[in-house]
Amino acid sequence: MGKWEVDTSGWLQEHQTSIAEQTDVMEQILASCVGSDVVLQREVILRNDAARSKPITFSRQDNPTQTKEYEIYLALRDSWDYRRFLYQAGHEFGHVLMECYPRKECFKWISECLCSAISMYIMHRMKRFFPEQKKFYKDYRNSVFTRPKEILANHESVLDFYTQNKLDFWLDPEGPNENGVRTRNGVVELSWLEIIKKNPSAMKSVIHMDDSSIDLPPSGAYTNCDIMVHEMTTLFFQTWKSNCQGDAEKVFARDIAASIGYELLEI
Ligand SMILES: [Zn+2]
Repeated sequence: MGKWEVDTSGWLQEHQTSIAEQTDVMEQILASCVGSDVVLQREVILRNDAARSKPITFSRQDNPTQTKEYEIYLALRDSWDYRRFLYQAGHEFGHVLMECYPRKECFKWISECLCSAISMYIMHRMKRFFPEQKKFYKDYRNSVFTRPKEILANHESVLDFYTQNKLDFWLDPEGPNENGVRTRNGVVELSWLEIIKKNPSAMKSVIHMDDSSIDLPPSGAYTNCDIMVHEMTTLFFQTWKSNCQGDAEKVFARDIAASIGYELLEI
């Protein structure tokens, strides 16, 4: 398998081997879900940039001068913050699978939530590779979801929470961040993680999240913003599902959409 590269200069020498090893395991976990062919198609380099406020993945499609197809910059101030390394790297690898789609700002919350759910899924699988750290992964998952679970407890369901915050998601893909955890997105991630766990290989459907065929309405075209958000988000999910290959992938896209109230046509 073509290994995703790590520019180890962003880590202290004593951690470089471990960082490369963890990256390798994460790549293997993803390959076991989406296929090594998909992983091999993506040319990736992972770096740490302590000066960044948040991690980011640049695609050559958006940034033609970069040498690698996908250049990931993690934002670890303490480069040996192992939990944040896993959380951030897993999330950015999700963007790589999606080839940095969707590119329209109003749909980006969908990839943001899915990437974090993928990251937590990787964490869930890591314990098989490092059984001595089982408790560590579990504790970390619990700590990430503590606040989202508290928020969810004040709502009837994830659907109810999303419905009340629909516009907020549309306008701000990340939402509030508490200690490196996106609490609002976390509520949706809780339910999307369960969908991933149900059939991890169906996660491959995320490679079809291309939103370039969708034209957003000109401002003023809708008098009711709620209807516009509903129609455009439905169109996004419908387009994604239509692009999916095979039933498992389509079911995955359908379940993700249905969890927050978007019923898709059977096509
Ligand atoms: Zn992201």
